Amino acid sequence: MAEKFDVIVIGAGPGGYVAAIRAAQLGLKTACVEKWVNAEGRTVHGGTCLNVGCIPSKALLEASHKFAEARDDFDTFGIEISGVKADVEKMISRKNGIVKTLTGGISGLFKANGVTALEGTAKVLGSGKVEVAHRDGSTAVYETRDIIIASGSVPVDIPPAPVNGDTIVDSSGALDFTAAPKRLGVIGAGVIGLELGSVWSRLGSDVTVLEAMDSFLASADETLAKDAYRILSKQGLNIKLGARVTGSTVAGNEVTVTYTDANGEQQQTFDKLIVCVGRRPYTEQLLSADAGVKVSDRGFIEVDDQCCTNVVGVYAIGDVVRGPMLAHKASEEGVMVADIIAGHKAQMNYDTIPNIIYTAPEIAWVGKTEQEVREAGIAYETGSFPFAASGRAMANNATEGLVKIITDKETDRILGVHILGQQAGEMIAQGVIAMEFGSSAEDLALTCFAHPTLSEAVHEAALAVDGHAIHIPNRKRK
Ligand SMILES: Cc1cc2nc3c(=O)[nH]c(=O)nc-3n(C[C@H](O)[C@H](O)[C@H](O)COP(=O)(O)OP(=O)(O)OC[C@H]3O[C@@H](n4cnc5c(N)ncnc54)[C@H](O)[C@@H]3O)c2cc1C
Repeated sequence: MAEKFDVIVIGAGPGGYVAAIRAAQLGLKTACVEKWVNAEGRTVHGGTCLNVGCIPSKALLEASHKFAEARDDFDTFGIEISGVKADVEKMISRKNGIVKTLTGGISGLFKANGVTALEGTAKVLGSGKVEVAHRDGSTAVYETRDIIIASGSVPVDIPPAPVNGDTIVDSSGALDFTAAPKRLGVIGAGVIGLELGSVWSRLGSDVTVLEAMDSFLASADETLAKDAYRILSKQGLNIKLGARVTGSTVAGNEVTVTYTDANGEQQQTFDKLIVCVGRRPYTEQLLSADAGVKVSDRGFIEVDDQCCTNVVGVYAIGDVVRGPMLAHKASEEGVMVADIIAGHKAQMNYDTIPNIIYTAPEIAWVGKTEQEVREAGIAYETGSFPFAASGRAMANNATEGLVKIITDKETDRILGVHILGQQAGEMIAQGVIAMEFGSSAEDLALTCFAHPTLSEAVHEAALAVDGHAIHIPNRKRK
């Protein structure tokens, strides 16, 4: 039998590495097993988020946004430039550099916190044992008191458009194009599809997004979804709703997609096709027959509110369990579980997890949407403020979008905050903090916001709930 641990964490994504660091900080002898091997043949930490998810996508979103601004918007500010060119290879190499720095940083944090990093593939055996098939070919069985499974998720494949790594790629492949494809198809108008579609559209691709659902961004507030659809379409994303892909044919360097919509069967040919129809929990070869851990029909490891599985001493967190597939949700669950294992009382507030779509403008929200409160039969109020009425937004040339706050009519307690606009992803933290502290709209309205900032729109939307916005005429007066 190999070394004994208090905790073994399986997977070093934002769920697993955070859990491992926290557990070690709390004095638990902790190991973290990771099997991800990068293009250079090295085991790397950070999981989907750092290697092929949150960070590389944002590096390309920022680069492409800066390029599009220089090309299309600088003139508005009185800046004349000509010959603006995008060096896609340099953008990709910058992105790769950021990934390398960050993944290396996690290894450094493991060392600093005393987490033992095990390189290889882990399997949960019964009775507190974890087998690790090490990269050097050896296998060892480690004993541990507690196990945290953080094995994450992988992209969903669809039979009508099987990924071939060339003409048809998944989100990871779309982060590595060496040039902007002339005609780009994206299957799925979800968060990832819209972000990747935006990147390549800004860099010159003619982008068509095929979405099977008839509604756009059904999980976002209806007001924001409607505005976002209009704005993104105006930017050049050809978003086709109710378009269900039924097949694809690859011929040479192009792929022809067949889909059905309200007008019957259609075909469109692309140079590249990105399949972004969602992600599925990843548990391949993870659980031995003796492990006894329950997995749902949809492949998620079943857990309760505190991420306990049905087996005592085995926890699961992040994308491999229910809830939104978001890095910060995975990390918070990691902290909660490490705290519980160390004997502390810990609970996570699933009602205040923020969602952000990093398009331009950004779409961000926390809490309930207006359609959700309406359907739940809750008596509610709303207050909105458009960025078109914000001095700072005008100065920034960013007048698209709005802030909308939804409150309980009886108590004034904030039920949801929704922001479409520049830096919405940063501003939404104000809504998260307000909701975490159980604030009312009046609490926000009585708070002093700095001028001139985009955040003043949050203040004004809170004032508008009660009909007291200062810088727009109020729909209701009290
Ligand atoms: C293109 C893209 C953009 C995204 N952007 C955002 C964003 O902006 N914000 C956001 O919050 N989320 C974003 N996400 C989602 C985010 O990446 C995930 O929610 C997050 O990474 C989940 O963390 P995790 O720790 O649960 O799993 P993962 O990050 O998937 O990590 C799981 C790790 O476990 C390892 N592993 C699996 N099985 C084993 C085993 N048996 N043995 C050893 N190791 C194993 C895997 O190799 C992997 O490293 C994005 C995702 C994609 C694809």
